[in-house]
Amino acid sequence: MLFSRKQKDPKKEKEFEIVDMIEELEWNPVKRWSKRSVGSIDRVIIHHTGSKGDVTSINKYHISPGNHISSLGTPHICYHYVISGPFTSNHCDGEIVLVNDIRDITWHCRGQNSRSIGIAVVGNFVDDTKPSSEQLLAVRWLMKHIHEDLGIDKKEFYGHCDFRKPACPGKSLYNEIMLFKNNTI
Ligand SMILES: [Zn+2]
Repeated sequence: MLFSRKQKDPKKEKEFEIVDMIEELEWNPVKRWSKRSVGSIDRVIIHHTGSKGDVTSINKYHISPGNHISSLGTPHICYHYVISGPFTSNHCDGEIVLVNDIRDITWHCRGQNSRSIGIAVVGNFVDDTKPSSEQLLAVRWLMKHIHEDLGIDKKEFYGHCDFRKPACPGKSLYNEIMLFKNNTI
C-alpha cells in the first residue's frame, strides 16, 4: 500500500506521511521544468483543484496539449503537493502526494512560480462546499511541516485568491490558511 499513517497517541497531533509519486506520474514526452535552489523558495500558495479528479487524471489533463494552462501541455502536473479527497478509490482521504521536486518551478500561480511552493487540495470549494476534515488536517500538517522544514515565515502562506484568482481555494480552505498565519492552529 502506498499510504500509511502513524498515530502515536490519539490525543496528540496526527502524523501524516508524504507519498512520492514524482516518477510514477506520466511526464510530458519533451518538456521539463526549469529548476531553482531550495533557498529561493520563500512562499507557499494553496489551491483547490476545482474538480474531484484524482492526482493521475489531473496530471494527464495538465500534460496534454490544449488545456487551459498551456497549448502544448505542461511538463508535469502543475503543483508540488496534492491532498486527495474522499472521492476516489485510488487514494485515501487526506493523503498527501508529492508530485514534483520542490526545486521544480511549476506553473501554478502567475508571477509567483519561481519563489513559491504550490499545494492543491482535491475538490471544488467555492460557495459552501468544504474540504473533508481529513483534508483540513492534512493541509494543516503540511503547512506546519513546510514552515518548520524550510523556515518559511507563516505570513508567507497564501491562497491563490491573494493573487487575482478569487475562486481559489474557496472560503473554508482560505480560512484554514488564515488560522495558520495568525498562529491560532
Ligand atoms: Zn489555484
